[in-house]
Amino acid sequence: MVERLIEQLLIYAQAHLGLRGFDVYYARNLLMAEFKVAEPYKGELSQEEKERIRGMAVPDEFIESLCSIASERELAPEGMELSFASKIMGLLTPSPEKVIENFDAIREREGIESACLYLYELSIKNNYIQKTAIGKNIKWRADFGENFIEVTINLSKPEKDNREILRQLKQQATSYPSCALCIDNLGFEGNLYRPPRQNIRVIPVKLAGEEWFVQYSPYLYYDEHCIAISMEHRPMKVDSKTFLRLLDFVDIFPHYFIGSNASLPIVGGSILSHEHYQGGGYKMPLHYAADKKFYDCKMEGVSVSTVSWYNRVVRIRSADRQKLYSVACKVLEKWLAYTNEECEIISRTAEQHNALTPIMRREKGEYVLEIILRNNRTSEKHPDGIFHAHAEYHNIKKEGIGLIEAMGLYILPGRLKRQTEEIKRILCGEREYGEDLEIHKGMIERLLAENETPMREEEARRAITEYINEVCRLILINTAVFKPDEKGQKAFDEFMSGIF
Ligand SMILES: [Zn+2]
Repeated sequence: MVERLIEQLLIYAQAHLGLRGFDVYYARNLLMAEFKVAEPYKGELSQEEKERIRGMAVPDEFIESLCSIASERELAPEGMELSFASKIMGLLTPSPEKVIENFDAIREREGIESACLYLYELSIKNNYIQKTAIGKNIKWRADFGENFIEVTINLSKPEKDNREILRQLKQQATSYPSCALCIDNLGFEGNLYRPPRQNIRVIPVKLAGEEWFVQYSPYLYYDEHCIAISMEHRPMKVDSKTFLRLLDFVDIFPHYFIGSNASLPIVGGSILSHEHYQGGGYKMPLHYAADKKFYDCKMEGVSVSTVSWYNRVVRIRSADRQKLYSVACKVLEKWLAYTNEECEIISRTAEQHNALTPIMRREKGEYVLEIILRNNRTSEKHPDGIFHAHAEYHNIKKEGIGLIEAMGLYILPGRLKRQTEEIKRILCGEREYGEDLEIHKGMIERLLAENETPMREEEARRAITEYINEVCRLILINTAVFKPDEKGQKAFDEFMSGIF
């Protein structure tokens, strides 16, 4: 019953979203108009019912009801039911300006960590972050002795089905908002190309004197996964000013790391058209990796080291931001112009190829900057990128290795759940190889050659997981601009010694 649902939603919003006072009367009328009902609920929710709603950790049951009401009562066109649910949750959430005011007040009173937690929890409670769906992702940790990698099979981003593709074909592409990151998404209804964003809330920040804003990622690849986004829709660019923005970010959010993707295709992230950084309250596998060798940067109070990691990382530490900045600028300048044809590194042909992925964080009173050295050149042998996942691993990961993966946290496509289940059946002797698994042909042949079949289910599962783990490790080595062999190590050492 819709009238009853309105009362339940009002109880929920008062308990979890900060709805209060006269806004409750106001929201009831707004919801009645949205649901096209003329009279409010005549009954009274039981005390027990109210308590149950107040104890809810996620709004899933309401989202489900809202989606079915939208379709039954034709309150939203087919395919836009979730947009209707987001709109209702957005109506029940304080306005963007009110959320900023609340954030600032909490920050003043309890500190930045509590303020962040306020926005984070609000984002979960109003379904902007769909926690339950994200919780279904399959996650594990791959240990390799000295280091480890984390692997996630992403099931919360549904793969497009044919019906949806057909609908998209029918709908004209629009140019508003310019991209999925633009501030214009605040409150946007969504369409078949862009998700609904009536329930998103963001916080303005000043980075290097510029206007930026911070929001949480709806995909939540790790704890408190946030994105800092420029107010201006302009392309990604990593230069010395990037370091200043990252420094400002960790001054405002000392409990979060923040990193920028490289600003070139292949080695950059999926959105190069709008400048943004990714961060969060999480310690990445790279952050646990030990220092390998220290170099004298001729500046007191700054330490520079390479890192025992799969790709090539320069780590700079200092309590002094100005000093760290000037050392970082030297690394940037040297790397952008560095060529070593023996190692296949060519900084520039007709276009720029050397790039870097900088990640900043604070630790024990110091600023720590990790700079991952990247290059996006292609060759006849490696048309997708010399320092990109090589073709034999594309069945596991083909997309660009952005900063999250480069730091050792892999997000793998959802199709792998279904496909690895079939590969397991082959190993267990329950089916034959078939064309449906063509992209995994090499993997299946290797697993069959290395194992005595039929295998027991547990053994087969373990063999597949170990295969994926090893591929993830090897892809990171593919992205290493200096290889771990003698020639590569020597060239890296010379590059490092030559910076200062
Ligand atoms: Zn944009």
